[in-house]
Amino acid sequence: MELIDNTYQIQGVDLLSVAEEFGTPLYVYDADMIKSQYHRLVDAFKPVDVKIKYACKALTNMNVMRLLRKEGSGLDTVSIQEVYLGLEAGFQPEEILYTPNCVSFDEIKKAAEIGVHINIDNISILEQFGNVFKGDIPCCIRINPHIMAGGNTHISVGHIDSKFGISIYQVPHVVRVVNTYGIKVNGLHMHTGSDILDAQVFLNGAELLFNAAQNFKDLEFMDFGSGFKVAYREGDVTTNVEAIGAQISERFQRFCSEYGRDLELWFEPGKFLVSEAGFFLMKANVIKQTTSTVFVGVDSGQNHMIRPMMYDAYHHITNVSNPSGTERVYSVVGYICETDTLGYDRLLNEVREGDVLAIHNGGAYAFSMSSNYNSRYRPAEVMIVDGKAHLIRKRESFDDLVRNQVMIESL
Ligand SMILES: *Cc1c(COP(=O)(O)O)cnc(C)c1O
Repeated sequence: MELIDNTYQIQGVDLLSVAEEFGTPLYVYDADMIKSQYHRLVDAFKPVDVKIKYACKALTNMNVMRLLRKEGSGLDTVSIQEVYLGLEAGFQPEEILYTPNCVSFDEIKKAAEIGVHINIDNISILEQFGNVFKGDIPCCIRINPHIMAGGNTHISVGHIDSKFGISIYQVPHVVRVVNTYGIKVNGLHMHTGSDILDAQVFLNGAELLFNAAQNFKDLEFMDFGSGFKVAYREGDVTTNVEAIGAQISERFQRFCSEYGRDLELWFEPGKFLVSEAGFFLMKANVIKQTTSTVFVGVDSGQNHMIRPMMYDAYHHITNVSNPSGTERVYSVVGYICETDTLGYDRLLNEVREGDVLAIHNGGAYAFSMSSNYNSRYRPAEVMIVDGKAHLIRKRESFDDLVRNQVMIESL
């Protein structure tokens, strides 16, 4: 989103006219930004055979999946439904990684039969997998490396209490199960959820995976998950993907030559690809002066954007309608019957009733975490592609609220 001639635009498209045409609340995504983030990552790891698997739980609109597929991306999925969406969006099964946690074995079996890559994060599941598929279908093993970075930073990389992954200390048990059933392990995986800011911290975790790799002779890829940090507020420290890409690629190439084969290096970013490309447009319904603050009450809330409430996340807010208005202090709140504050003590260009506000970083975990709470419709989604705004999901309607309710006749 850029301010040009006193109007906020994406690819030359005026956001106020988009809000006018499609109504608010509205999610708007910048396709160019998603593409450039994808290529920035691929270029950073150029020396090695890098494959990006878009973690589609961040934003599951199939147009976003199709856009990334066209650029060369694969898909990381966490449910069988996401696998189905990926197939519907045109991905080949072998381009999809399925990384479930605590799902039933039946679901894993379904995914395996479709032919997507299976990532296993529990020894009991690995045993069932071996029992059913023997060596017929390969799988990847999700490892929890339990690394703590020293110094003042204390970044936990897959902490000991995490429910995700198989502990690095249990690799001997994994090897026993794998050898007993003749399972072909084609990948090792680690996704810790921590931000990659320091190449050394990241490489400490990677070293453990490189060590573990010596136990598995059929590896085709190593998957280092995600953790590429994006800015949510001005001045936020972000991942220097170019610097880190150069260091990790160099170390990975050395690992491959020790291992005796060139493996693919996989990453599964969600946020990095789509977070900053998304803007959530809302309309100021009311301005409410109280004894303690000035509230801006918008036509949305935690039902459509839950990150500020759920994670205490900061999302920058801009008044799209009044770019040069005098700055004043506001609390931006939703219309839900909860304390759904979207931003405390924000300096915004003066907000008038009817103004359109944009929440930044609206691409990741925004629409995909939205709900119908308070019986509100989920918003529409628009993507700006080649300088044109396209509707990519209709706003819900009353029908969507009643469709699955079943009436008891005697009532
Ligand atoms: C959610 C998730 C990701 C993506 O994380 P981001 O922080 O959005 O980049 C990657 N891999 C797995 C297994 C995940 O569950």
